[in-house]
Amino acid sequence: MNKLIGIFGGTFDPIHYGHLRPALDVMQQVGLQQVRFIPNRLPPHREKPVLSDQQRVELVALAIADTPGFVLDDRELRRDGPSFMVDTLLSLQGDFSGSTLCLIMGMDAFNELPQWHRWQTILDLCHIIVTTRPDSQLAEFASQIPIATQISDNPQTLLQRPVGQILLQSVTQLNISASQIRQYLSSGQSTQYLLPETVREKLEQAYAR
Ligand code: ATP
Repeated sequence: MNKLIGIFGGTFDPIHYGHLRPALDVMQQVGLQQVRFIPNRLPPHREKPVLSDQQRVELVALAIADTPGFVLDDRELRRDGPSFMVDTLLSLQGDFSGSTLCLIMGMDAFNELPQWHRWQTILDLCHIIVTTRPDSQLAEFASQIPIATQISDNPQTLLQRPVGQILLQSVTQLNISASQIRQYLSSGQSTQYLLPETVREKLEQAYAR
């Protein structure tokens, strides 16, 4: 049977349980063979991160080390120029021909999809798994585009076509964000229970410098 590969892109500045548990939920509930965590290059308009590319990668590696099926993929950081998901998917298609790519994104990220470079082409390259996120609802655009007819909450639909399906997947609701964690760190508050301890130790060292 065709293998389903999850693609989970993000800034991961830093990675936290709000990324990890929903990714595990998706892998188990949808039956993905693996989930590839792909840290992206930080866009120039974002606030300057405290963590370097290398630190973000290192923390993702630490966070996923004990989870079979979770894989770190640093291809966007190895590529020059902006990180366009469409280019990442083309490169993944080259590496995993014969597998079905499933792009995982939180609902907040999915609602911004029309602002992504060549977003309609993305649906010619993969399925999209949209995960529920506290305080996020499906934006209006989803009901207006033609692909709306392919939105489903049944994981089986991903096996029926090679690309272009949108799956709404409910996941554990954890109201955690990287920006909240960065704010806690800069104001000297604890980040315990928001992210794995191994990640927290490294992160607090980075902030202490
Ligand atoms: P920031 O607070 O800096 O904007 P973030 O915590 O939202 O960061 P990102 O790295 O920007 O994290 O997110 C990567 C992906 O993870 C996105 O698809 C986002 O929707 C999803 N995500 C992040 N946090 C959660 C969460 N708590 N629950 C579900 N999905 C999440």
